[in-house]
Amino acid sequence: MPELPEVETIVRELKQAAVGKKFWKVEGRLKSVFMPSFDAVARNIKGLRILDVTRRGKYIIFVLDKKMRLVIHLRMTGRLMWKKVKGREKFICAIFYFSDARQLIFSDVRKFGKIYLYNEKEFEKRTGIGRLGREPLETDLKTFLKMFDSRRGILKNTLLRQDILAGVGNIYADESCFRSGFHPSSRIEKMDKKDLAKLYEAVQYCLNEGILHCGVSVSDFVGTRGTLGKHQNYLQVYGRKGDPCYLCSKPIQKMVAAGRGTFYCLNCQKKK
Ligand SMILES: [Zn+2]
Repeated sequence: MPELPEVETIVRELKQAAVGKKFWKVEGRLKSVFMPSFDAVARNIKGLRILDVTRRGKYIIFVLDKKMRLVIHLRMTGRLMWKKVKGREKFICAIFYFSDARQLIFSDVRKFGKIYLYNEKEFEKRTGIGRLGREPLETDLKTFLKMFDSRRGILKNTLLRQDILAGVGNIYADESCFRSGFHPSSRIEKMDKKDLAKLYEAVQYCLNEGILHCGVSVSDFVGTRGTLGKHQNYLQVYGRKGDPCYLCSKPIQKMVAAGRGTFYCLNCQKKK
């Protein structure tokens, strides 16, 4: 699933390529991805111009004129591309046509992705953006400590909660646990201020590195121009079961935590 760095990569590409364009029409091949409905989106998007493209958590937000917002959530396997890709045509859910004849194609193998069109007053409530927690990269250490200080729960589960920190998913949660040296099953309430400061640094580092390398392309993520992210080459634990830890050479372990495949080093990550 694309996480914060992958979505940020897409948003940066769209900022360059899509701002200023005007929607001509939208074709819906899988109408259930559209909210509130395909007909409403098709009727209202005509003639709207893209003023900006931003991100909140894992949501892509097109800021449109007439105070409208087009919001896209890629979920597990959604993709936004400027070109049709061989082998992926049958997964196309929507095609946005612009007045300059360009097309932006939304395809989704597992069809969990969503396209929303609402006005600026409604969109946060209707998309779930209103329930998101803080943007991790816009949170300073002091605020982070305040957020986690009185919190109880399992470290990995807490990192995955979008209502606390928005945008961290399975990959970056595992990488952050490894970098901070804590076992993913650690209890937050047993971590002191120094531990939490380490965790803060790790989350910041892992997300920033992910953005720097244009995201991870291990499953389905590609940029809007079809380019692969490079961050999979820099992952320390995720997807490395049985491979030697880069710090201690012991094999990386895999377990299920928070219902997700979780990678860690038994030797380097202490359970609090
Ligand atoms: Zn190790």
